[in-house]
Amino acid sequence: MQKRGVSGSQKYKTYVNFQYLRQKSSKMSLVVVGTVAFDAIETPFGKTDKIIGGAATYSGTSASYFAKNIKLVSVVGDDFPKEMIEQFGKMGMSTEGLQVKNGQKTFFWAGRYHEDMNTRDTLDTQLNVLLDFDPVIPDSYQDCEFLMLSNLMPQLQRQVIERLHKRPRLIVMDTMNFWMETQWDALMETIKLVDVLTVNDSEARQLTGEYSLVKAAQKILSMGPRYLIIKKGEHGALLFHENQVFFAPALPLEEVFDPTGAGDTFAGGFIGHLAQTRDISFDSMKRAVIYGSAMASFCVEKFGLERMVNLTPEEIETRVQQFVDLVQFDIQLV
Ligand code: AMP
Repeated sequence: MQKRGVSGSQKYKTYVNFQYLRQKSSKMSLVVVGTVAFDAIETPFGKTDKIIGGAATYSGTSASYFAKNIKLVSVVGDDFPKEMIEQFGKMGMSTEGLQVKNGQKTFFWAGRYHEDMNTRDTLDTQLNVLLDFDPVIPDSYQDCEFLMLSNLMPQLQRQVIERLHKRPRLIVMDTMNFWMETQWDALMETIKLVDVLTVNDSEARQLTGEYSLVKAAQKILSMGPRYLIIKKGEHGALLFHENQVFFAPALPLEEVFDPTGAGDTFAGGFIGHLAQTRDISFDSMKRAVIYGSAMASFCVEKFGLERMVNLTPEEIETRVQQFVDLVQFDIQLV
């Protein structure tokens, strides 16, 4: 009988080069666009008043562990704490493209998580300063090689692409159900322009009307993006490209306190890793999905940004190793 499968020397292994974590590349440039916000969060474990949040806040913070010279594009009102803007700078983010509007209020979002912590209701979205936001791209941002379009009005995400003189090497876009419900046409126009789209499973179904995630992925890949990531909360994430698919688990955690920002943190770790290695092959994207998942696993351990602001490279390294151990196995098919 003919033997099938892999030989003993070709074992299933996930290769992680931890050197990357220690060699922040200064050559790349990563622009992060999205909301910088106040959030009010309710989970079965507690409730917060206004705390700092926002899609770009989470993505930028997460990416800052991998990439230098992150450039932020966003807008806040004069109610936003100056200390936090300074903190962005300390994390290596340029805030030249962060506009502060006098007499206006920062974007506000309130959400309540269900018992399962995987689903939530949006209780309030106050666009405030976002309503007349006109993103300005400083000259110092024009060398952008990697662009992270974190959650924001789709027409503003598109404007940022158009205002960059040269198309970045890789554009990653995140979006959410709110924009599918309120700005469908603009969303479709922007999705056409990006390389990688990240959505969660219910958003993938909402975008396509397909229950099967494989069918949904096929439809989304025909809308423009060459790569699609479907996040499934505690059930991991799927990366689709042409007819290939890669699965990354989520780390089984004893306690999840607050999933807010997990998706943005995932996206920041994902693009941060790609920007750091400057390798945008499918294999590199698979590793980036693991880095993104590892960063998201930290985010949910505490409320808001708390866990994300003081991570050490060693903690990240250990966490990534846990992911490797979780999925690594040897198998011989006979
Ligand atoms: P995530 O949990 O990854 O979906 O991200 C939650 C973050 O996204 C919160 O910090 C909110 O401030 C921000 N957010 C919520 N709704 C929106 C929206 N419609 N557009 C942009 N950002 C949003």
